[in-house]
Amino acid sequence: MSANQVNNLDVVVLGAGFSGLYMLHRLREAGFSTRVYEAGDGVGGVWYWNRYPGARCDIESIYYNYSFSEELYQEWNWTSRYPDQPEILRYLNYVADKFDLRRDIQFKTRIIAAHYDEKMNLWNVKLNDGTSVSAKYFISGAGCLSSANLPNFKGLESFKGEWYHTGKWPQEKVDFKGKRVGVIGTGSSGVQAIPVIAKEAGHLTVFQRTPQYTIPARNHLYDPAFIKQTKENFAEIKRLMRETDTGNGLQIRNISALSDSPAKRRELFEKVWEEGGFGLTSSYNDFLINEEANHTVSDFIRSKIKEIVHNPETAAKLLPDYYFGTKRPILDSGYYETYNRENVTLVDVKEAPIIEITPNGLRTIDGEYELDIIVFATGYDGMTGPLFKMDIRGKGGMSLKEKWEGGSMVRSYLGLATSDFPNFFMITGPESPSVLVNMPSAIEQHVEWIIDCLEYLREKGVDAIEPTVEAEEAWSKHCREVAEATLYVKTESWYTGANIAGKPRSFLIYLGGFVHYTQKCNEVAASGYNGFTLSTIKALR
Ligand code: NAP
Repeated sequence: MSANQVNNLDVVVLGAGFSGLYMLHRLREAGFSTRVYEAGDGVGGVWYWNRYPGARCDIESIYYNYSFSEELYQEWNWTSRYPDQPEILRYLNYVADKFDLRRDIQFKTRIIAAHYDEKMNLWNVKLNDGTSVSAKYFISGAGCLSSANLPNFKGLESFKGEWYHTGKWPQEKVDFKGKRVGVIGTGSSGVQAIPVIAKEAGHLTVFQRTPQYTIPARNHLYDPAFIKQTKENFAEIKRLMRETDTGNGLQIRNISALSDSPAKRRELFEKVWEEGGFGLTSSYNDFLINEEANHTVSDFIRSKIKEIVHNPETAAKLLPDYYFGTKRPILDSGYYETYNRENVTLVDVKEAPIIEITPNGLRTIDGEYELDIIVFATGYDGMTGPLFKMDIRGKGGMSLKEKWEGGSMVRSYLGLATSDFPNFFMITGPESPSVLVNMPSAIEQHVEWIIDCLEYLREKGVDAIEPTVEAEEAWSKHCREVAEATLYVKTESWYTGANIAGKPRSFLIYLGGFVHYTQKCNEVAASGYNGFTLSTIKALR
């Protein structure tokens, strides 16, 4: 079916990642004609693009999957504690095949604009192949981290070697063997890629702006007996995914870090460090709201870095000083140990900033580094970035970017919708709990809320839905107040937009807890969508 044959759909969905696939499945089941547009030539979303060496999820695989279908859960077997990118991509391809999703997905097609036509109560969606489609509803499954950030370094076009961004990695294997490689960036992507590249490269230079805390993942293959047990415990796994604040199987211990003696605390920190994974983050309940509590865990990780890294000067450069957890926590496999290798150099680019990319490498104010390959592990324009990449226009032709003043005035109701943009929904949008919950959990909750809403509107003969200004003002205010009470807002990070030059600072993740948030969404639905305006065509005309 070509794009110009699919006018007047019920729904257009953007993206065929975890969000778009499940949304499509539920829409089709409910009888809504739907088309998904996906820029990649396969399903997977971020897991399609993030093929960099070492790419792996840091949520345990038994929780990093859908829970809507027990049959699917019983059929799929994860091989290791933390799934690598190829395995997650295989899983999402399996899902697409099992639910026969591909026939309603148009690959290699990017949505470049979506304009709401008030007269027709339709979204006109423009595609990069020059065609357009129209639909009553427009749903974004673009996610929070799909717009890669390539900093505007002078001279990149003059570079004679190869360069790559971790978030747009090519399908072919990149050969680092014997090469002089530079990695810029030490967030989750850099921390995963650096140990793997170091093993292959002739020499690796890491250009670090901000040192990060990372915790050993201690990944291992799963024992088949363990997998059997998780399948028997499906109901409990589903409950943990859907009815806890993390959604990832971890339960935050409801005790302050300051209520234990230093010795007892250290004993616990050592234990969870040895176990690996995010157990450290959930060992006490006040790391993100109490500076002193945060110091206990930050000091502990700094002491580990000093123990692991042999060269004291390198170790000193690797010591973070922000509040642990206020940048996205990271799991690694041999990250700090990598700096003990002879072929690895760490360069502090906060102290000596990068001035330019040169034909032969990269120049900081301290001098030039000759490189054959540059890897940009420089992250994403998060949260609003994927939405602003398209020209989304609501009532009166106003763009989302204009309404949200470039990101400084984001106003949404529950992170699901925004006023003046009728029949537009965002899956894990700004001001929802999104990235601070296990993503499949957050996605399933949003998709199920949206599908219930669309079924309700159909049943009641409602043609358009949008939040009231009052409801979204109140929700946004609540989001800001909750965030202000935490340490998150004290740290420059992609959470706050500080990673992108010129981007307005705002904290767009709802921190009131996934359980509370889900309750609130359910209450809104049960009330007949309080906080939304529901209109019929008669009222619209
Ligand atoms: P990131 O956390 O934003 O890290 C980007 C890195 O690049 C930072 O070290 C940053 O330094 C540096 N950087 C950016 N611009 C720079 C510049 N102009 N000069 C020098 N350095 C620069 O990005 P990411 O590592 O891609 O991770 C983003 C998010 O994706 C993660 O937080 C996580 O949510 C998700 N992710 C998840 C997994 C997983 O396992 N589930 C894996 C990868 C990514 P500053 O810190 O100073 O800004």
